[in-house]
Amino acid sequence: MRRPELRVDTDRFRSNIRAVRDRIAQSALMIVLKDDAYGHGLRWAVEAAKEMRVEWYGAYDVRSGIETRRVLGDAGRVFAWATSTDDEIDEALRAHIDLGVGSAEYLARITEVAQRRGVRARIHLKIDTGLHRNGLLPAEWGRTIDDVRAGEAAGHLQLVGIWSHLAEASDGEDDDAQSLFLEAVRVAERSGTTPEALHLTASAASWWRAELRGSVSRIGAFCYGVRSADGPELAGVTPVAELTATVVDTVDGNAVVEIGAFDGIPSTLAGARVGTPAGARGLLRIDATTSVVEGWPEMRLGDSVWIFGAGEHGESSATTLAERIDTVGEEILTRLTARVRRVSTP
Ligand SMILES: *Cc1c(COP(=O)(O)O)cnc(C)c1O
Repeated sequence: MRRPELRVDTDRFRSNIRAVRDRIAQSALMIVLKDDAYGHGLRWAVEAAKEMRVEWYGAYDVRSGIETRRVLGDAGRVFAWATSTDDEIDEALRAHIDLGVGSAEYLARITEVAQRRGVRARIHLKIDTGLHRNGLLPAEWGRTIDDVRAGEAAGHLQLVGIWSHLAEASDGEDDDAQSLFLEAVRVAERSGTTPEALHLTASAASWWRAELRGSVSRIGAFCYGVRSADGPELAGVTPVAELTATVVDTVDGNAVVEIGAFDGIPSTLAGARVGTPAGARGLLRIDATTSVVEGWPEMRLGDSVWIFGAGEHGESSATTLAERIDTVGEEILTRLTARVRRVSTP
């Protein structure tokens, strides 16, 4: 019997990246790698993206930024936006990682570390456009830009980017956010050169709202084939990961498979459609370490069941499962525990 496996399909990942890049046209892709590449495995994702010459890597924190840099070598730009300790800033500068900066306090610390090391820190300044999640307020923006320019003149900083994050709650709010964003860019422009990386949009807005895209688009979900909850299917984008488990027992003609709530499958998913060698069947019950799936003719111990995936065996996608319990596909993927082995193909 095999342990449950999350199989990630590298070809599908590459196709998704191609589809996303075609769609976002001149905007450069920053592939977002947070939460261990949305549960798919950071190293695998970076290796595949590197082969495709993806230019930007959004690594969230410095630790995963450094792991990303190890795989990339000198290739690509790594962007880490979680506010970090001085030691982490130091490590990030040594690994040539761009830092996202959302407060004057963090800017001052980065400037100090860069000065001490005698290097120029590459920074992307974040304007708060309404989400109130770590960003400079419009009222402090001008003053902070002045500080950045002073840091540049002294040789400690380089303003590489300006960025923000959209709420994606309504088009109107996102339009207002873009106005604030563009005003912040104008303020920066008046004080010197325009930073090369202007980034505001994630998957959904990058895909559906061309007018909001900057020179860079930060995209996670769609590259992994995770569509938005309650959103439409996307041309050329398919789920990259499939979760499989084997039949270890039968009860009353139904299959007992070796995966359960302890592995990270929400027990509230009972009733969903899963894949079997005979096609779609109902997921009858999710227990602690096993689950029960409606049986099929000639069912055998050792048969595979697909809890979610790309639909090839009748299974639902992670997003379709998520919609049953009012959450997003990412939530299903990132809850899986380490007992679920990650396997990549080909
Ligand atoms: C998660 C995240 C993204 C990517 O969002 P997706 O919807 O998965 O594309 C982009 N930017 C930031 C700051 C994020 O936290």
